[in-house]
Amino acid sequence: MSTRDIVWAPDRVLKTNCTPVTEIDGDIRQILDDMLETMYAAPGIGLAAPQIGLTKRLLVVDISRDDEENRPLKVINPEIVWSSEELNTYEEGCLSLPGHYGEVTRPAQVTVQFLDETGAEQRMDADGLLATCLQHEIDHLNGVLFVDHISALKRNMILKKMIKAKKQREEDEAA
Ligand code: ZN
Repeated sequence: MSTRDIVWAPDRVLKTNCTPVTEIDGDIRQILDDMLETMYAAPGIGLAAPQIGLTKRLLVVDISRDDEENRPLKVINPEIVWSSEELNTYEEGCLSLPGHYGEVTRPAQVTVQFLDETGAEQRMDADGLLATCLQHEIDHLNGVLFVDHISALKRNMILKKMIKAKKQREEDEAA
């Protein structure tokens, strides 16, 4: 396993509608392992493939607390097949927008259908933080960031700061 570089917004890869995975092979399982390692190292509770520059419908999630055992979830080609009318608001962050947060309102419960790393079809009912996290990561696969759910004023302010931060990161890497 190895960690990958996380793409920061704004970036075209983060605005891309990702393509479904057609064959779950060793390469895909390697990517999922790398994504988990990258997410734990960050640290974060979710990571989608475009955040490491790959436009494939893959995501990983682990919402376990620090004092709990890890509960990694590897998700391929997810689809939200049901969402509740009841809504929930969480303050969301994103590894592609480090240091920035915003309140996002989403369905409180969802049912997600996906393939696991063996290619078996899975169906998961999620609520609370897991429901929000899955919706946030699935958004990534459709080129949507949490800032797309908040006011244009706040979004533009965050993206402006990100452009500066990206420039700084490039300069630091070049130094
Ligand atoms: Zn994110």
